[in-house]
Amino acid sequence: MIFHFNALDVIGGNGSKVYLCIFCGGLIAHSDRSLILKGNKRHLFINPSGINCDFYTFSACPGVIAPGPATEAHSWFSGYGWKMAFCRQCRQHMGWQYNAVLKSAVPAVFWGILVEHVITKETSE
Ligand SMILES: [Zn+2]
Repeated sequence: MIFHFNALDVIGGNGSKVYLCIFCGGLIAHSDRSLILKGNKRHLFINPSGINCDFYTFSACPGVIAPGPATEAHSWFSGYGWKMAFCRQCRQHMGWQYNAVLKSAVPAVFWGILVEHVITKETSE
């Protein structure tokens, strides 16, 4: 598999690892934007259709977009609504963006990125 990099590589921090889209190789996130929630940066939930959803949480994902309004239906994180999130480059489903319902909540926004939809790569920095 050949990975191609683009200008997004310089956005969003300089973690020792990068997370790349498994479908197109586009940058998804840097490891220094990993977000620990409830003691973990990796979470496993089973969705209402019975599908295991194994995902990492990040405070920022420069390579992911989440269009449209958030919904609180079946939210895995109380106090947060969610939106479907897609690779900015190839538009494959990457996970979800979580948006705090209350303006005072911290973090206001975070991302859940499916473990099976990214590969990690060490950076030389
Ligand atoms: Zn992609």
